[in-house]
Amino acid sequence: MESFDYIIAGAGCAGLSLVYYLLESDLKNSKILLIDPMGQNIPDKTWCYWAENPLAIHPSASVHYWNDLSFISSKSKITKNLGRLNYFHLNSHDFFESIFKKLEKHPNVIFIQDEVLELAESSESILVKTKSNGSFQATLAFDSRLKQEDFNSDLSLKQIFSGWRIKTQTSVFDPKSLVLMEFPKENSNQFEFFYILPFSETEALVEFTCYSHLEIQEEKLKSALAAYLEKLTGDSSYEISFRESGVIPMSNRFNTKMNTNRVIKIGTAAGWTKASTGYTFHTIQKNCQKLVNRLETQKLENFQFSRSPRFIFYDNILLNIAHKWPGQLEGLFLNLFSTSSADVVLRFLSEETSFKDELQLLGKLRFPIFIKSLLNYESH
Ligand SMILES: Cc1cc2nc3c(=O)[nH]c(=O)nc-3n(C[C@H](O)[C@H](O)[C@H](O)COP(=O)(O)OP(=O)(O)OC[C@H]3O[C@@H](n4cnc5c(N)ncnc54)[C@H](O)[C@@H]3O)c2cc1C
Repeated sequence: MESFDYIIAGAGCAGLSLVYYLLESDLKNSKILLIDPMGQNIPDKTWCYWAENPLAIHPSASVHYWNDLSFISSKSKITKNLGRLNYFHLNSHDFFESIFKKLEKHPNVIFIQDEVLELAESSESILVKTKSNGSFQATLAFDSRLKQEDFNSDLSLKQIFSGWRIKTQTSVFDPKSLVLMEFPKENSNQFEFFYILPFSETEALVEFTCYSHLEIQEEKLKSALAAYLEKLTGDSSYEISFRESGVIPMSNRFNTKMNTNRVIKIGTAAGWTKASTGYTFHTIQKNCQKLVNRLETQKLENFQFSRSPRFIFYDNILLNIAHKWPGQLEGLFLNLFSTSSADVVLRFLSEETSFKDELQLLGKLRFPIFIKSLLNYESH
C-alpha cells in the first residue's frame, strides 16, 4: 500500500490552500496525496475577502478590489470608505489554475480523482479508503468533506444565493463602490439582499442572497434576480457571462473539536466559515498558514483553532435574530455600518477586534433587538 506524509480529502479552497502553504514551507518535499471526486474540474466560484493588501496566494494577474462599499435600503444609501482595508475579488478558476501550475513542479504531490469513503485511524497511521483506487496510508489526513446532512438539517440556517456576471450595453454601475447589501423594496418574511460587484460601468456580478432554514428553489432566486436586473438596467439589454449559486451552512456547530490525533478538519467542515456572514476564504488562508507552521515545528498535538467565546456569542445573537426576527436584520446591518467606520466593522466580522473595540462598536447600536435576542439566547 502506498504511503504518504499527508493525505488531503477534498481539493477545494481549503485543500488546495493547504497544499500551497506546504509547498511554500520547509515541508515542500513531503509526499502529499490530494483526493477529490471532481478532479480538477471544480465549478467556478467568486471569492471575496478584505485585507490591506492582496494575499500572496491571490494570483496577481486577477486582483480586483474596491475601497468603498455601499448599503442601499428603500429609505437611504450609505457609502463607506474602507480606510486601509480593501475588498478583494478572486475568481476560483484563476486560483485553482495557479495552484495546479505549482503542483506540476512538484512530483511529490499526487492528485487523484476519487471519492474518500472512510478514514480509519490507528495509533501509527491513518488509512484512507477510496471508492476506486483502494486504500492509502499517511501520517496525517486533512479532511474538508462536508456531508449532505450538513446542508439538509431543517434547524440550521443557510445562506442561499444565486448570481450572474453580466455585461450591459450602457453605463449602469458605479465601479468605485461595491454594494454589500441592497435590500428589496418589498417586505419579505426572510432576510434577503442583492450584492453587486461592479467591475466597470457596464460589467458586474449581481447576486441575490437569502438567509433561510427552508429549502429555496433556485428558480425563485433567479426570478428575483431577473426582475431586479430588469429594473436596474432599464432599456439596456445585458449578456450573462458567468453564473454561480451556492448554499453555505450558517452554524457554529462545525468545529475543530472533531479533530483526532491523525485527522484534522479544514475549511467549512472545520468551522472556518463565519456563521453569521458565510465568509470563509480569509480564515482558510490564516488557518492553513498556522497549520503549516505547526507542522514545521512538529507541534502535532496543537491543531485546535478554538475561537474566542465572545465571537461565538455575538454570532449566536445574530443568528438568533436571523432565525426568529429576520425582518430586523436589515436595520441592524444599516445601524452597524452607519454608526462605526467600515474598517472597524469588517475587522469585527473577521474576529480581529479587541473587547474595547467591541464595546465601542456595540455601544452605538440600537439595543432592543439585541436584548430580545439575549433573553431568547440559543446556540446555533
Ligand atoms: C458560490 C460560493 C461563493 C462563495 N463566496 C465566498 C466569498 O466571496 N468569500 C468567502 O469568504 N467565502 C465565500 N464562500 C464560502 C467559502 O469560501 C467556500 O465555500 C469555500 O469553497 C470553502 O472551502 P472548503 O475547502 O471548505 O470547501 P470546498 O471548496 O467546497 O471544498 C470541499 C471539497 O471536498 C470535495 N469532496 C466532497 N466529498 C468528498 C469525498 N468524499 N472525498 C474527497 N473529496 C470530497 C468537494 O468536491 C470539494 O472540492 C463561497 C461559497 C460558495 C459556494
